[in-house]
Amino acid sequence: MKILEMVKEAKTIGITGHVRPDGDCIGASLALYLYLQKNLPEVRVDVFLDTPPPFFACLQGFEAIINDGKSDIKEYDIFFALDAPQNRLGKAENLFKKAKTRINIDHHVSNDGDGDINIMQPEAAATCELLYSLLDFPDELDADIAKAIYIGIAHDTGVFRYGSMTPKTFEIIAALMKYDFDFAQILNDTYFERTYVQHQILGRALLESIVFMDGRCIVSCLSRRTLDFYHVGSGDFEGIVNRLLATKGVECAIFMYQTRGHEYKVSLRSQGVVDVAEIAGCFGGGGHVRAAGVTMKGTFHDVVNIISSRIEAQLDSRKNVG
Ligand code: 5GP
Ligand code: MN
Repeated sequence: MKILEMVKEAKTIGITGHVRPDGDCIGASLALYLYLQKNLPEVRVDVFLDTPPPFFACLQGFEAIINDGKSDIKEYDIFFALDAPQNRLGKAENLFKKAKTRINIDHHVSNDGDGDINIMQPEAAATCELLYSLLDFPDELDADIAKAIYIGIAHDTGVFRYGSMTPKTFEIIAALMKYDFDFAQILNDTYFERTYVQHQILGRALLESIVFMDGRCIVSCLSRRTLDFYHVGSGDFEGIVNRLLATKGVECAIFMYQTRGHEYKVSLRSQGVVDVAEIAGCFGGGGHVRAAGVTMKGTFHDVVNIISSRIEAQLDSRKNVG
């Protein structure tokens, strides 16, 4: 079923994605928002997300994003959750739960689907790719919608590098590039350009990283004190864990930062042998086989010990099989 068929009776539609939204989540939410507005101008469409990093302001619809999860509508006819399961929706979770029809669209292997309609496709390289395949008129987009989808796919594939890319992904990118937007500049503005602070904390994270398990694992942690010193914001960690993973010989990278007291946000990346979605899932997190995350309680050493023992068990069992 395509999007317009799903929403054909609706007068009010809500859209949201996961907390700390990334490029795919923001791109998908705004692409869907713009698409619905374009095709159904008489329908009220609201989009709810945590405050995104400011450089996403280059996307049309950015200023319409509602950050506080508040609305005068208590029960939307349709509510979309994009790129996330229900328990990661943050402030809009309640609106999603109360909606008459809940639609969950995601490509995370850890999401079983929480909606009345669930479109789960772990083989899609990005939720934006999946969303594109659900549009009724993909040939009749406009530059703003194309740009939002392009951003989402570019960000979730490390700019078209990950193994999740397929010929289909490239076909979609080729179709999107026919629209009139600056596809090189937008990647520079939203992906490659870093603030001074972001470079400083990347430097700290690399400098203080520790390799273990004979160089197959790497971990780095930034404490609350360091983050406060640099005035770091939540979007500033993007890319650090991937740089750790790019260390020669490393199979698995762990990057963590202290959210408060004995609590850490943990990012896990794998070259493919270790399934990090499975490890994050053991502690209430999730993600993809090669990229996953979780929030964990304990000291730095507690968290590293418990995660690395799971990594080691997976590496050992793979070795026995191989
Ligand atoms: P990151 O490490 O960049 O925060 O996230 C990597 C992947 O794991 C992303 O696809 C993200 O959506 C997912 N992820 C990160 N943290 C969590 C979490 O706490 N729960 C779940 N279910 N997924 C997460
Ligand atoms: Mn995604």
